[in-house]
Amino acid sequence: MAVFALRSDDQYLVDTDGGSYVVDAGSDTCTCPDHGIRGRRCKHLRRVDMEIGIGRVPAPGERVAACAVCGAGVFVPAREAGAVLCGAHRPAVGSFVRDREADKLLVVTGVTRTRADEYRTSDGTRISDYGTNAEYGDHEPVVEAVYVGNAMRSPGPLDVSGRKRYGFPASRLRRLAPDERPHKPVIGI
Ligand SMILES: [Zn+2]
Ligand SMILES: [Zn+2]
Repeated sequence: MAVFALRSDDQYLVDTDGGSYVVDAGSDTCTCPDHGIRGRRCKHLRRVDMEIGIGRVPAPGERVAACAVCGAGVFVPAREAGAVLCGAHRPAVGSFVRDREADKLLVVTGVTRTRADEYRTSDGTRISDYGTNAEYGDHEPVVEAVYVGNAMRSPGPLDVSGRKRYGFPASRLRRLAPDERPHKPVIGI
């Protein structure tokens, strides 16, 4: 039995040796005779529930989007637009990353859905227009971060207004392996 999410809302195609049926997870119905005639919760409905549970197919209200860095499928809310990142390429807010160009340490303050060729800095420049970003995809979502030395000099929470915050195409920031993370105070870096 194979399950495929259909593009229309909440519907799944279930292919079996005995035939192909459409399950509607929103109304809990199936086109098979078992459900249609006897009104039972058929094996196709149960199979769709199971595949949603283990993350093989998107849940109702979700769609599959491609990670902007590696192309892997990611489930996102169906009505949410914008660039997305998979778990492997999406840095956690508050995590340390290294800028591949300047080789400097930063802390991530936000992961946006805005592409590098749409996100503009305060002076109106697109992130993709900076020469240092030429090697990174214009379609990648912008990750916002602050340089660590800068962050530590200013008291209060990160990313308050007025703090110097920079945007980067996602793949320009390298996530750090556990043994690369600073475990001493980073003041002065
Ligand atoms: Zn069925
Ligand atoms: Zn990815």
